Amino acid sequence: MLNMLWPIGAHTETDGELWLGGCAVSELAKTFGTPLYVFDEATLRTRARTYQEALRRHYPASAQAAYASKAYLCLAIAQLFEEEGLDLDVVSSGELHVALQAGFPAERIHFHGNNKSPAELALALDAGIGRIVVDNFYELETLAGMVAARADRPVSVWLRLSPGVQAHTHAHIQTGQVDTKFGFDIKSGDAERAIVAAMQAPGLLLVGLHAHIGSQIYEAEDLAVATARLIEFAAQMRDRHGFVLQELSPGGGWGVPMTESDPAAPIEPYIAMLCEAVAATCRAAELALPHLVLEPGRSLVAPSAVALYTVGARKEIPGVRTYVSVDGGMADNIRPALYGAQYAALHIANSQLQGTERELHSARGTQHEIVTIAGKFCESGDILIRDVKLPRLAPGDLLAIPMAGAYTLAMSSNYNLARRPAVVLVNQGEARLIQRREAFDDLLARDLPLHRGTPRAAGAKATFRKYQALGNDYIVLDPEQWPEPPTPEQIRRICDRHAGVGSDGILWGPIERGAPFGVRLFNPDGGEFEKSGNGLRIFARYLWDQRLPAGPDFDIDTPGGRVTAHVLDAAGSRIAMDMGRLSFDSPKIGLAGSKREVVEEDVEVDGRQVRVTTVTIGNPHCVIFSDGQSSDVADAFAKSSAELAQRVGPKLEYLPLYPNRTNVQFAQVIDRHTLRIEIWERGAGYTLASGTSSCAAAGAAIRTGRCASPVTVQMPGGTMLVEVDADWAARLTGTVDFVCGGELGSSLLRDS
Ligand code: PLP
Repeated sequence: MLNMLWPIGAHTETDGELWLGGCAVSELAKTFGTPLYVFDEATLRTRARTYQEALRRHYPASAQAAYASKAYLCLAIAQLFEEEGLDLDVVSSGELHVALQAGFPAERIHFHGNNKSPAELALALDAGIGRIVVDNFYELETLAGMVAARADRPVSVWLRLSPGVQAHTHAHIQTGQVDTKFGFDIKSGDAERAIVAAMQAPGLLLVGLHAHIGSQIYEAEDLAVATARLIEFAAQMRDRHGFVLQELSPGGGWGVPMTESDPAAPIEPYIAMLCEAVAATCRAAELALPHLVLEPGRSLVAPSAVALYTVGARKEIPGVRTYVSVDGGMADNIRPALYGAQYAALHIANSQLQGTERELHSARGTQHEIVTIAGKFCESGDILIRDVKLPRLAPGDLLAIPMAGAYTLAMSSNYNLARRPAVVLVNQGEARLIQRREAFDDLLARDLPLHRGTPRAAGAKATFRKYQALGNDYIVLDPEQWPEPPTPEQIRRICDRHAGVGSDGILWGPIERGAPFGVRLFNPDGGEFEKSGNGLRIFARYLWDQRLPAGPDFDIDTPGGRVTAHVLDAAGSRIAMDMGRLSFDSPKIGLAGSKREVVEEDVEVDGRQVRVTTVTIGNPHCVIFSDGQSSDVADAFAKSSAELAQRVGPKLEYLPLYPNRTNVQFAQVIDRHTLRIEIWERGAGYTLASGTSSCAAAGAAIRTGRCASPVTVQMPGGTMLVEVDADWAARLTGTVDFVCGGELGSSLLRDS
């Protein structure tokens, strides 16, 4: 059995193998590569429940734990803690975005931070976030001004206070002392002035107080003292200004042991002591018990993850030190370099070795030595563990570092242009990739070159495969042959129906050769777009033909979000695609003007009123139904909806309502389950068929009561089945055929 530093159920076998969540780490390293971060699902869920249950047991009023997502956030972690009933604390628009994309309910999110920008505050207000934790006077004024200008409903806020308590922890992670950048200082009178200002601001509802005194705290008394200070201050503010403390958040900060010599830091006694302090102080001050919110970050995720590295070079300096280097370091875990964090490690011998080599290796395993584990980055300070006693390490061995879940990946960087590691979630013998390793192309994703040469090596083969799906044809270019996406000029040549192969666009992928398979999508004009129903069904067929997916159901990451493909027959000729959720929310669609739903709203086109319904499914759509229109629009529909699409489509594409332009559908209801549409596609023009357009039109027909799911959508190019569930998730089903493949001629590859 392993010590307290390891996730629940972690154990080693006699052959030296380490098992996490029922998975052998050597196998995980083989499948996903290293450095690899392995999160144990049982540990994450158990710790979340421990917090919630301890609060229920020890606090005599309502209480709630909120995950401080700065410790580490990705979609899967946000979704897992949402399932466990935790609230979420975010400190940036980035964290807020990921949380909202994960489907985390906005009203259960708190927004912290000592310098939130007006844009970040606007995003939080648009999202309808639960609590904004106001940190300073600038923010108080900015927020009050914004809320007043928007005439929104009042916003519930907490004030962050600095209680003047010095936590027993590293100076870099103390935050509650007087000399800190965070919060309104109680002693100087700032906190009182902030209370008065917040109570007087018309759009703000001051419902609570918050403090966070630091991180990696082992002494519950520090937290209890700071919390008591907040309550005593609240009682004074009640007496002087009539302030009512409804909610109280003493932050997070509970520590975890990092090495065997650290205290165990169990959660329950800390919560018991804190709850007792709140109850006793409230009793003494004759205050009703507030709703109590704790914000653990580290103590939820640190013990849930193990970092796996592969051992490489060794340098022995006789009489001084032996360095053993691993394939990660400060780019994925900067904590040792930043503030001297200490870690333990376990060695797992290279399981690839055979026969005598293996015996020699295991004999070596019994000899221990003191070594320093160095990272691979160009800084002398890039040391993960100093002077640790381990069996003699050899290249190819694995090194597992426990307590690696908090503030490691969250602080990770691309220093030395390292690609950030893959992250897997293990449970009962299954490993799910929840964050893929960054690809080389991720390193270039933001770059704009000065000169655009052809990125392919001269003379390299440039093959393609072309497919068609219900009236759309797409060409797939595989990064194995195309390390970089084709340039806009190359795309225009390849898609040209006279001089090139001819297609409705280009799919460049898979970016990773395992699920979720990434793809980028290009229009024939060279521009990039987010999502395409038929394009993605074609891409799924391509992956199936290449035998890349492990089974018939797999995820594809698009710039417009993740979709799930379902291959319905062995040949891959029928493919269904879960396209994500339809939304009618104007900020999600990217509409100009105030937040609302634009459903059956009249807009002016060429001096005529046209009734439109707007919707997004990762890309924006504008749907015009033939019924309910003025007589001349209805007449034009009756004459030729195809002509209408080609004449009015481009005008609607550039409607001021859509600052980023839009796709347009002209729809006629045939019956409750059948719709006929003509399509004008953003960047591509009049099109015979489109998957996202079918979803959007079917969704708009359902939203306006014209149709019910499933809806068969007829287009000039073919017919597709769209199913929409009660949560607006849309699924598209139809056929896909292989058309042709081969090598592209050099005239198509020229870039000028
Ligand atoms: N809440 C606030 C406001 C914080 O600033 C932090 C960490 O900096 C936390 C909660 C979480 O702290 P920990 O991860 O130590 O629990």
